[in-house]
Amino acid sequence: MTTRRKFIQLGALASVASVIKTWGKPAVKVSKPVVISTWNFGAGANVEAWKILSADGRALDAVEAGARVPEGDPKESSVGLGGLPDRDGRVTLDSCIMDEFANCGAVACLEHIVHPVSVARKVMEKTPHVFLVGEGALKFALDQGFKKEKLLTKESEKAWKEWLKTAKYKPVANIENHDTIGIVAIDTKQNLSGACTTSGMAYKMHGRVGDSPIIGAALFVDNEIGAATSTGVGEEVIRIVGSHLVVELMRQGNSPQQACELAVARIVKNQPQKSKEIQVGFLALNKNGEYGAYALQKGFTYAVYSNEIPNTIFEAKSFY
Ligand code: ASP
Repeated sequence: MTTRRKFIQLGALASVASVIKTWGKPAVKVSKPVVISTWNFGAGANVEAWKILSADGRALDAVEAGARVPEGDPKESSVGLGGLPDRDGRVTLDSCIMDEFANCGAVACLEHIVHPVSVARKVMEKTPHVFLVGEGALKFALDQGFKKEKLLTKESEKAWKEWLKTAKYKPVANIENHDTIGIVAIDTKQNLSGACTTSGMAYKMHGRVGDSPIIGAALFVDNEIGAATSTGVGEEVIRIVGSHLVVELMRQGNSPQQACELAVARIVKNQPQKSKEIQVGFLALNKNGEYGAYALQKGFTYAVYSNEIPNTIFEAKSFY
């Protein structure tokens, strides 16, 4: 299992990002458009999102285009193609998307489709529903013209077989057995959107769904206030309906940074012991273009792209 989180490996991203640590820095205000996304692979996603945002495109199109980047990358073992499987060896994907009108769509436990975020968008645009799961989501995707593909790569299969030797389910903070791309953006028309996509916790029980496809948990957008997204152990995010909480905390007058910190503090309060061992991170962006990030543990990185910030990876401040 590799440790992609390590900054040392950022060399590969040198053309699109540089690393700046922002311990203790307050929320930053930048001019619109802005896109922010989770983890180092957010920098690759931001590049695609920025092409759309900088051409006065819609935030919704930008976040979808961004999320598709790690989804399609077989080397990213926590999202889409090449995602680590569940304990039965099946790659099951979760994703959601939300726009400035509170339209939203989601899929969970979707197999065989490389771009669940685009299926989620179709659910939003082509059905009377918000959420399709499992076989129904797959059937819908195929009806919409998505191709059925094998998502388990040789590397992921090898990692799974290795895992089977001990078969211990204990997610370790900031390493490859979990991760999600959560991406939120505001466009030049001042509209917000967000998307989230993941293969979920590696070696989860078959049928397990985390926070990532759940509107309000891993993603929430309120075009009057702001947008938020999350990554980390989804069960803990669901318990506090994390992203909705972050947006509501911003509505109450908190900055994006304060809102992320308060949401993380809620997890600590609920689970004082467990919160020391797991990772959860939040990103938030408000209507003014201010953003914030906060995590339980050190090591949560995120990428920001705006006119002032040329696609830079930051490390979030953390509770522990
Ligand atoms: N939140 C994802 C899940 O629980 C995993 C992650 O972001 O690390 O499925």
